[in-house]
Amino acid sequence: MIQIEHLKKAFGDNEVLKGIDLTIDKSEVVVIMGPSGSGKSTLLRCLNFLEEPTDGIIQIGEYQVHAGGKIDRQRKKVIRELRKKTGFVFQSFNLFPHKTAIENVMEGPIAIHGAKPEEARTIAEALLAKVGLGDRCDHFPAQLSGGQQQRVAIARSLALNPLVMLFDEPTSALDPELVREVLLVIKSLAEEGMTMVIVTHEMNFAKEVADRVVFMDEGVIVEQGTSKEIFLNPKEERTKQFLYKVE
Ligand code: ATP
Ligand code: MG
Repeated sequence: MIQIEHLKKAFGDNEVLKGIDLTIDKSEVVVIMGPSGSGKSTLLRCLNFLEEPTDGIIQIGEYQVHAGGKIDRQRKKVIRELRKKTGFVFQSFNLFPHKTAIENVMEGPIAIHGAKPEEARTIAEALLAKVGLGDRCDHFPAQLSGGQQQRVAIARSLALNPLVMLFDEPTSALDPELVREVLLVIKSLAEEGMTMVIVTHEMNFAKEVADRVVFMDEGVIVEQGTSKEIFLNPKEERTKQFLYKVE
């Protein structure tokens, strides 16, 4: 479903990703962990070409893009399609401040899928209900808690009917008491079979949802396995040290 081959990314002479190979199956939930600066966000951003990789191949569903390929119309079109199929949820919620919750969720289906406003409203209402915000449709972001805003952001991504959801530390900007409600929404998506790649430091959450945990350091995948394998029985010294520090 997702195939990353030999992915490299350099910023000037700083090589941040040094050859990542990763295959993710449909409905698989992959949690990526690793120290600050190890390249986790860069990996996610390269996956949907928010950053242009230096080398490698990205395939999501039927869309395959080679890094450094000729920048022509066809390539741009494939990247556009690949992005449409990839929901991205960031640490900061990035909602439109002047739109209500429901208008934020309706925006994508209208602007990107050409949905009629009433169709988009139906989709948005259902998704806001799904993330537990059926009664907050007409609130503006500033009238919502951080946890609620992040759930709107998740609903907004889901409105485009993505093949995969990418989460980059979705709870790290939240007060501790709001973390759980966001994680529960992500967990329910996992139970429904959504394919997800989640960068998080929430180890207990990773234990609950991850089919696979990938540990990265300095731009490479150091080791990967089930959460049990990685948390209870890490093989690599770098993984052991990281886990020792975060626990
Ligand atoms: P954190 O846990 O702190 O979020 P991370 O694992 O997500 O860290 P990245 O944000 O991917 O790490 O950054 C990896 C390296 O790439 C860092 O050295 C960073 O300075 C560098 N980097 C990231 N984005 C850019 C950019 N746009 N321009 C230049 N360097 C960048
Ligand atoms: Mg990051």
